[in-house]
Amino acid sequence: MLKFLKQVGDYAKGTVEAAKYIGQGLSVTFDHMQRRPITVQYPYEKLIPSERYRGRIHFEFDKCISCEVCVRVCPINLPVVDWEMNKETKKKQLKHYSIDFGVCIFCANCIEYCPTNCLSATEEYELAAYDRHELNYDNVAMGRIPYKVTNDPMVQPMREFAYLPKGVIDPHTVSHRSRGAGLRPEEILEKSETPNKD
Ligand code: SF4
Ligand code: SF4
Repeated sequence: MLKFLKQVGDYAKGTVEAAKYIGQGLSVTFDHMQRRPITVQYPYEKLIPSERYRGRIHFEFDKCISCEVCVRVCPINLPVVDWEMNKETKKKQLKHYSIDFGVCIFCANCIEYCPTNCLSATEEYELAAYDRHELNYDNVAMGRIPYKVTNDPMVQPMREFAYLPKGVIDPHTVSHRSRGAGLRPEEILEKSETPNKD
């Protein structure tokens, strides 16, 4: 008899525990129903990178003067500047330029210090390749016109969640051309130059 009562007690205890765990699980489910949607249906939907995003580097061959400043300021001396001296003009002549994006840390030092602005950061972040050697971009690959999420007719561009207008939580309902949260750089400048009337 005692054994039977103990079994009933254990069963009741197990039932209460199970109900408790089901309640905990459902509370998480109901809690998520109140939260903002964070799923992006990639690759049909893509987030628009932030304005100062440092993606694949774009290179303009004709602007490069082979000064190798980019190599010296790079923390890992990564850019390869292949040039030869033109005896007629007595100037360096660029033959080949490359950066291995499998090694690059996208610090943008080379972009900042290039005296002729022939390097620039693009929005491109989809650099995955099956072979890491394919990430070694030459001047032709680096000179390709940058891809922009907002110019791709196959993709729905969506504003990053931090850039949504005030009070908006669903990026699907917001046009990527609409104004985002916060002030634009020129507005910040204008505000800082306006004398405080207080
Ligand atoms: S982004 Fe940084 S790591 Fe990459 S090539 Fe330029 S300086 Fe070097
Ligand atoms: S710093 Fe600019 S101009 Fe000089 S070698 Fe590098 S890319 Fe060319």
